[in-house]
Amino acid sequence: MNQEKIKEYKEALEKERLLCVSEIKQNETPVDFGSEPDDESDESDKTEDFGNRLAVINDLKNRLNEIDSALEKIRSEKYGLCEKCSEKIESSILDIDPESRYCKNCKTESQ
Ligand SMILES: [Zn+2]
Repeated sequence: MNQEKIKEYKEALEKERLLCVSEIKQNETPVDFGSEPDDESDESDKTEDFGNRLAVINDLKNRLNEIDSALEKIRSEKYGLCEKCSEKIESSILDIDPESRYCKNCKTESQ
């Protein structure tokens, strides 16, 4: 893969990383559970909302891990190689999903 292309993916990954970090921060803002214990329906709504936030935060953190390991691969010059079969990952995949660990074939297999 040429350096220009790698630079493009790196920039895309870094942008995505910043976005992820700020979304995690937004979702981690402490939830106000309210001070009226009698209002049960309201409480359960908020608990549900908190559960959704945790799920979102989890997704974002997984994404962040993927992005970090892709950036790490760029640093160690292993970027763009499939983790399963060690073949080059198609640029059609990396264009959509620059943090992808697998090539087209292995991606399809694992689904
Ligand atoms: Zn593969």
